[in-house]
Amino acid sequence: SSSLSSVIVIGAGVSGISAAKVLAENGIEDLVILEASDRIGGRICKEMFGGVSVELGAGWIVGVGGKESNPVWELAAQLGLRTCFSDYSNARYNIYDRSGKIFPSGIAADSYKKAVDSAIQKLRDQEANGFDDNSNRTELPLTPKTPIELAIDFILHDFEMAEVEPISTFVDFGEREFLVADERGYEYLLYKMVEDFLFTSEGKILDNRLKLNKVVRELQHSRNGVTVRTEDGCVYEANYVILSASIGVLQSDLISFRPPLPRWKTKAIEKCDVMVYTKIFLKFPYKFWPCGPEKEFFIYAHERRGYYTFWQHMENTYPGSNILVVTLTNGESKRVETQSNEETLKEAMCVLRDMFGPDIPNATGILVPRWWNNRFQRGSYSNYPIISNNQVLNDIKAPVGRIFFTGEHTSERFNGYVHGGYLAGIDTTKALLEEIRKDERKNDSQNQNF
Ligand code: FAD
Repeated sequence: SSSLSSVIVIGAGVSGISAAKVLAENGIEDLVILEASDRIGGRICKEMFGGVSVELGAGWIVGVGGKESNPVWELAAQLGLRTCFSDYSNARYNIYDRSGKIFPSGIAADSYKKAVDSAIQKLRDQEANGFDDNSNRTELPLTPKTPIELAIDFILHDFEMAEVEPISTFVDFGEREFLVADERGYEYLLYKMVEDFLFTSEGKILDNRLKLNKVVRELQHSRNGVTVRTEDGCVYEANYVILSASIGVLQSDLISFRPPLPRWKTKAIEKCDVMVYTKIFLKFPYKFWPCGPEKEFFIYAHERRGYYTFWQHMENTYPGSNILVVTLTNGESKRVETQSNEETLKEAMCVLRDMFGPDIPNATGILVPRWWNNRFQRGSYSNYPIISNNQVLNDIKAPVGRIFFTGEHTSERFNGYVHGGYLAGIDTTKALLEEIRKDERKNDSQNQNF
């Protein structure tokens, strides 16, 4: 039976946890989860800040209200996770320039968005006509110039997860997005999931099949199995491995493979872009920004693209918390990760004084997540180039011998999202179970020949 196969799952983020759960449900008893950090959750991670629980990683359940039900939304509903509806559509009516003036309407934004959409359509048409290279959006025949164009371009491409319509998450699950605002955190979903197959008591995981602080450094694989070596010198052996480390980690040299991964694999891994997305939290003694539902999101238009562009106040989610969140991406994220938090606070305060005047109070606290410099993450999420055929994704997903790959970056329709990670874990495990069954049939027929 399947219980004769042993599997090691590397990584205890949402994809690793969902993979392990499906393995357990299918009778794989010899199961070990190796996680590099001291906690489960990976890029789902909360921290107490300014008296409330804030989400450093995934914050939204994206894709709600459509024809199919988003499994992550279903889990959240079952657990009564507290969420708040987010409506970004007003953001473009709250665009501030450097003198603190609000742009009169979102008309400029709308026409710019149309221009971008048609430029992308043109690229796609070219591709359909056989013009197939890997040019991405930086080569679009439309270059934003004014601060407002730069701001809108940033919102469309960096903030909105760099996707081109139609966005499969919206098509399948709906266009609504809900921000998790629960003291237990988004990660509570994962703690609940593991209760189904790991031994837990009073919210603590007490099951020695989950091993924390185990940094995998080497996978030695052959036709017979996989040997896994961790940084602290431990060795684990199994018939199969499910590897859920992020695309950024796969691009880094954290894990080496013996024999090395084939070229088609490493080439595909290099082709997938890593996005860095940073939410900086700022705590104030009192609020000085406009509140209310249509004011939740606001934009700062600066001549430098992505310079403290996208802002959100947390009064809708946590009234009285006096917290602002500003989102940086890619180059700006990396820049800010290398400087001190005081410097970042100073920059953010200058921007806020441009928008709200010189008399506003200084922030009393700042929280700057560092996803890029975290060697177990190396970025925030995967981003496939606009013009890229499915081959890249299929190669990234394809197993190499007994090593199976999972993670949000292996999700064909939902890469970059929590539900993408969750569903990828299930898909990868199904493929592995099929392989295990094939293996067993082969062994059975060989045994009969004796
Ligand atoms: P991970 O969560 O990264 O899990 C992989 C695990 O592997 C990690 O725990 C890591 O520590 C471990 N690991 C890595 N290397 C090793 C090793 N060598 N040995 C052992 N363990 C290792 N999604 C949404 O749906 N909505 C959002 O609003 C949203 N916002 C986001 C904002 C930010 C700032 C970030 C960073 C992500 C956001 N995402 C969002 C994306 C979402 O968080 C991810 O898609 C999802 O959590 C990825 O899950 P995963 O299991 O694929 O990877």
